[in-house]
Amino acid sequence: MSENAASGTIAFLGLGHMGGPMAANLIKAGHSVVGYDPVPAAVEAAKAHGVPMAGSAAEAVASAAVVLTMLPSGQHVLDLYRGVDGAGGLLSVAAPDTMFLDCSTINVDEAREAAAIALEAGHRSVDAPVSGGVVGAEAGTLTFMVGALPEDFETVKPILELMGKRIVHCGEHGAGQAAKVCNNMILGVSMIAVSEAFVLGEKLGLTHQALFDVAAHASGQCWALTTNCPVPGPVPTSPANRDYQPGFAGALMAKDLRLAVNALESTGVAAQMGPLASQIYDAFAAEGGAGRDFSGIITDIRDKSAT
Ligand code: NAD
Repeated sequence: MSENAASGTIAFLGLGHMGGPMAANLIKAGHSVVGYDPVPAAVEAAKAHGVPMAGSAAEAVASAAVVLTMLPSGQHVLDLYRGVDGAGGLLSVAAPDTMFLDCSTINVDEAREAAAIALEAGHRSVDAPVSGGVVGAEAGTLTFMVGALPEDFETVKPILELMGKRIVHCGEHGAGQAAKVCNNMILGVSMIAVSEAFVLGEKLGLTHQALFDVAAHASGQCWALTTNCPVPGPVPTSPANRDYQPGFAGALMAKDLRLAVNALESTGVAAQMGPLASQIYDAFAAEGGAGRDFSGIITDIRDKSAT
């Protein structure tokens, strides 16, 4: 690699809801990209955005300076790196010193394992999960939370800037995932707290607007209230105004809180709110909330409350 990494070909693996538009932005910026995804619909959508596609992940990686993954889970990332059922993984087919840049949201421990095996195979490794959702992926305004050695951060930064507007170096391997999981645990817990407060306000005879006007300018102020307000009205752009169409889907919040719980368990933190939020969002996702915005949790709280 490695001084060529920022300008060399990027093998983009995983062209789903997020990866598809992210790869399209790289192409738009004139970057050389070759994509791979096993799902035909993702392949067709990527081709429509001008992303040249390879017939396999190994074929995409053969000519690449950077291997960028945007996959559903850590198991997908590790399987691809290592190979499964005795088949060689990408770490064994990539040219020496290739940059393995994973932007998926995965367990902190899995990110550290991915980095360890990449380094052991003679490559480089960066974890750079994102926030900003599909809208941010399309607009090129994602936030990247990056875990990398300082020199590797400098290498990937110009690439990430083509897909995002905030690129934060959080520390070494795994630190990007650590920042993501901590942030989303705050978000999940605070959305439940804001939603419970609005339902309590309803029971006490407060209007939504009155509670908003006080809390948005008082110590209850937070993103879940002032940007993603779970009741329609006070924040016209929040998903509550469009019947909780995401936004940030309940299934993704449930996934991220499970990652938070795994991190809490592996570090032995005596947390109570994070695990409880995880249970609440697992139930929400299982009971019809998977495809709704996570602020739709307020309808569950209201429905389960005494009439
Ligand atoms: P997605 O399911 O739409 O896309 C994942 C893609 O990976 C699919 O197209 C799948 O076919 C492909 N894939 C699976 N195995 C593969 C393999 N071996 N090689 C190549 N491609 C493979 O998911 P998404 O919504 O794009 O999310 C991707 C990641 O980004 C997840 O980790 C998610 O948690 C994270 N994330 C998503 C959002 C969001 O709003 N969707 C926001 C932030 C972070």
